[in-house]
Amino acid sequence: MNLARFPRRRYTPGFTPLEPLPRLSATIGGAELWIKRDDLLGLAGGGNKTRKLEFLVAEALAQGADTLITVGAPQSNHCRLTLAAAAKEGLACRLVIEERVPGSFNPDALGNNLLFDLMGAASVRMVKAGSDLAAEMAGEAAAVKAAGGKPYVIVGGGSSPLGALGYAACAQEIMDQSFEAGVAFDRIVVASGSAGTHAGLIAGLVALNAGVPVTGINVRRPRAEQEANVLKLAQATADLLGTPQPVAEDIVALADWVGPGYSLPTREMVEAVRLLAAKEGILLDPVYSGKAMAGLIGLTRQGVFDGERVLFLHTGGSPSLSAFADVLRDPAFNG
Ligand SMILES: *Cc1c(COP(=O)(O)O)cnc(C)c1O
Repeated sequence: MNLARFPRRRYTPGFTPLEPLPRLSATIGGAELWIKRDDLLGLAGGGNKTRKLEFLVAEALAQGADTLITVGAPQSNHCRLTLAAAAKEGLACRLVIEERVPGSFNPDALGNNLLFDLMGAASVRMVKAGSDLAAEMAGEAAAVKAAGGKPYVIVGGGSSPLGALGYAACAQEIMDQSFEAGVAFDRIVVASGSAGTHAGLIAGLVALNAGVPVTGINVRRPRAEQEANVLKLAQATADLLGTPQPVAEDIVALADWVGPGYSLPTREMVEAVRLLAAKEGILLDPVYSGKAMAGLIGLTRQGVFDGERVLFLHTGGSPSLSAFADVLRDPAFNG
């Protein structure tokens, strides 16, 4: 795997920390838990989209683009970070917001919505759930061109093969840190959404012949549908890299912690957010990393990881916490 062949912008100085979670491990029991701090990646508020944007924005700049266009849910971390990259590069940024849960978009919300405003999005346009998002972004691109600009469209979550290279790079970073620290991991646990993170990680681990299985925790889709999505993207990413193809057996994307649906709260999520904050001083988020950590905690309690050393990949998201204050304090989801 030779990632240096791909143009890349640098938004994070050096590696993100790899840390043990001794107080969480002692509380849960059964497995030795570690964390990869991708919540500390560069660009405003950090999180996993920064790694994908390093490759995507490099391509946008190579093409002479002056405007980034992308799409996400109302509290989208991906939209926040695309906008932050645009600000840093001196590009304009237009956001299409898909209201996945009807009535959930409030332009005056706190969390990421406030940051869309602070970082100067050129446009924030809401579309209804089920809209043709590719067509909506093509419409934005046509408007930019008509005004004499040069648009670059980034798919939802930055989850194209080029974006997923960011997580093939993360796989390499994890294996380097693991070797340096003399700490071998039995497994990696990660949130699985638009699939670029999970797929890129798999493509990278397979390319490195690392022999470390990945347990994905879904935040939106049923298991079979998500596993098919991840496999397809992991294979396309391996094609781009020119490395061996991942196979179906490499992909696990459990759907037991989605709850009633994407971004909708669960008691397990609230417990996970509170536990990591209180035991380790680490902030998760309600939509992604909180549900993924709920999965890690649930599986560990079930004994599935007994005796293993497990690495949780923290994908970020804490800038949205303030927008979910009511849920996080709601007695119905606590205790
Ligand atoms: C987007 C996101 C994810 C999911 O990553 P995908 O690559 O879309 O699967 C996980 N955590 C956070 C905080 C995110 O913003």
